[in-house]
Amino acid sequence: MLLKSIPKIDKFITNKAFDGLSKALITKISKEKIQKLRENILNNNIKHFDENILINSIIKEYKNINSSSLKTVINATGIIVHTNLGRSLLDEKIFKNAIKIATSYNNLEYDLQKGKRGERYEHITKSLKALTNCEDAIVVNNNASAVFLILNTFCKNKEVVVSRGELVEIGGSFRVPEVMSQSGAILKEIGTTNKTHLKDYENAINDNTAMLMKVHKSNYSIEGFSSDVSFEDISKIAKQNYLIDYFDMGSGHIMDLPYNLSKDEPSILELMKQNPSLLSFSGDKLLGSVQAGIIIGKKELIEKLKKNQLLRMLRVDKITLALLEESLNLYLKNELDTIPTLKMLNTKLEVLEERSKTLKSKIEDFINCEVIETSTMVGGGTTPNKKIPSFALSLKFKDFKANKMEEILRKNLIISRIENDKTILDFRTIKEDEVEKIEEILIKEFKNV
Ligand SMILES: *Cc1c(COP(=O)(O)O)cnc(C)c1O
Repeated sequence: MLLKSIPKIDKFITNKAFDGLSKALITKISKEKIQKLRENILNNNIKHFDENILINSIIKEYKNINSSSLKTVINATGIIVHTNLGRSLLDEKIFKNAIKIATSYNNLEYDLQKGKRGERYEHITKSLKALTNCEDAIVVNNNASAVFLILNTFCKNKEVVVSRGELVEIGGSFRVPEVMSQSGAILKEIGTTNKTHLKDYENAINDNTAMLMKVHKSNYSIEGFSSDVSFEDISKIAKQNYLIDYFDMGSGHIMDLPYNLSKDEPSILELMKQNPSLLSFSGDKLLGSVQAGIIIGKKELIEKLKKNQLLRMLRVDKITLALLEESLNLYLKNELDTIPTLKMLNTKLEVLEERSKTLKSKIEDFINCEVIETSTMVGGGTTPNKKIPSFALSLKFKDFKANKMEEILRKNLIISRIENDKTILDFRTIKEDEVEKIEEILIKEFKNV
């Protein structure tokens, strides 16, 4: 009996409720739902069927499929280069040129002077040379590809000397030893987990050695009885032995950072003074631009990288190049406030305190809150274990547990942090124009409940 009341698909999809929606997609969803319904009836799982409920569930599914999966969130964790939340942000201003490039034909691989084929990497070398004093540069998809390309080009079946303390695994399953073996390079581990000395490098060099490599430890650091060799010293030995010296910097910051963050971490400008063979770093960590792997160094080596077939698989597209060029120009013009990552890092504590207090004053009549001094980290495998001071608002509502608060906020696309059993909103990463939005959400969720 119930089975008979199931609508016929051809007629069903002409229902007015589906007007204006894609017929093909509505038909597909309807068929699936009706099939499911039939099965449920046959299995005696349902005793009653309502056509309106069916229609609504189809429209809901339709909307779900058509909505963007990538959503903006408010990062209230305080972690600036948050790997899970998209790493570095870009300022809208730098999209202006990229939009023009993406929507018009352009000279991506065309030499306008000679009227013939040009090279896509040329567009970025001008700014990188001006900014870092490098001889030449190349940009690939991300820093992981940069490492792979370099090892594959110069170290296939040859030895690369790396300190055991630097054989790290970086988030997203990037393990230095595995990347090496995949690239064809032979890993020559030296030293121990906590200590590597200059003489370890010297002793490891033999006829089959191609490179001395240093890897940024990224998301860990060794405290206490430990020592490693500076890139400066590694460079010297490499030069004496006519080997390539290469530093996978990971994050790579152009100039010194506030809060003493660059104390043990020389900037790109600092490292370039030693005239290294090769440096590579990410475009979207501390540099604060788009996802990319930037390689700078000696011209003859960059030329060789350009000849490797692998480059075709790792190359960047025009939008990346356009955005990266704009970011680099901001450094050249010293407009660092237009680089959100640096802007957040450089925001004065007083400003963060003020913003916390402002929000507190707007919500304290319905939610328990407290302005607290706290500390956060840069994130993204940059400057491990180094804290930066910050201000936050700690929230407490009735007898709600911290994780319940966190969940309510998260459902509203605010990602908070739990600290000492409290849900906190860290103002280091909350953009100025997001404070009002947070206020609205807190009112909606907690006022008059
Ligand atoms: C982050 C990092 C990488 C990988 O860079 P991506 O841009 O994420 O590909 C490689 N090496 C080190 C030391 C890193 O910190």
